[in-house]
Amino acid sequence: MVDTLNLNMIIDQEPNHGLSREQQERLRLACFELLAVMLDDPAPPNCIECDAEITQPATGRPRQFCGDACRQRAAYYAKTAGQ
Ligand SMILES: [Zn+2]
Repeated sequence: MVDTLNLNMIIDQEPNHGLSREQQERLRLACFELLAVMLDDPAPPNCIECDAEITQPATGRPRQFCGDACRQRAAYYAKTAGQ
């Protein structure tokens, strides 16, 4: 089964197909989201931006980022990709 570590390796080793760094980042985040759905595990153990450990809240939506900085960085990449 593909896990997040293997996914990172696959994406890093793939030729970039002319994608910008931001587009690759967006692809990586999309893959993580898809993987989370496939594995029925929406809460990754580590931040998908910086790989820092996440303290998950006891209730509410599982966090994918360690903090606002990473969440905003990911949102910035998603927003600017393709421009
Ligand atoms: Zn982070």
